[in-house]
Amino acid sequence: MKAEGKGDMKREHEILIGFLKQKGLKQTDQREKILDIFLSNVKHVSADELHATIRKSDPRIGFSTVYRTLKILTECGLAREVNFGDGRARFERALDKGQHGHLICTNCGKTEEFAIATIEKSIKQISTNVGFRPLGHRLEVYGLCKRCQ
Ligand SMILES: [Zn+2]
Ligand SMILES: [Zn+2]
Repeated sequence: MKAEGKGDMKREHEILIGFLKQKGLKQTDQREKILDIFLSNVKHVSADELHATIRKSDPRIGFSTVYRTLKILTECGLAREVNFGDGRARFERALDKGQHGHLICTNCGKTEEFAIATIEKSIKQISTNVGFRPLGHRLEVYGLCKRCQ
């Protein structure tokens, strides 16, 4: 799984390295490892969950390093923070991935992504009508998944 994804992760690594340089931050193996695991992992992951996964392959990487790196990945546009209403910040990969909505099961926490191109069109139209300049939006729908109903 890892070797397979390596090819398209090259760009992500270049973006991270460029960003660190630009900010005067140190480029470390740990940060690159965190990026690799983040990219090859599940869709939406909290800092805790990511840390738990990373610890399996490198127990020396601490939680604060994982957390800080996730913040850096968000700042340079490789990750996006998503919030599913349980007070826990989760992160998903953001590069080459358009905005999408989430269907969130409040019982088991399962999430499903859906395309929001049509909704975005309406938002644009409505905004134009009232002279509003939208800067961003989130679309999270809460409910029960098929299995939990
Ligand atoms: Zn469910
Ligand atoms: Zn998502």
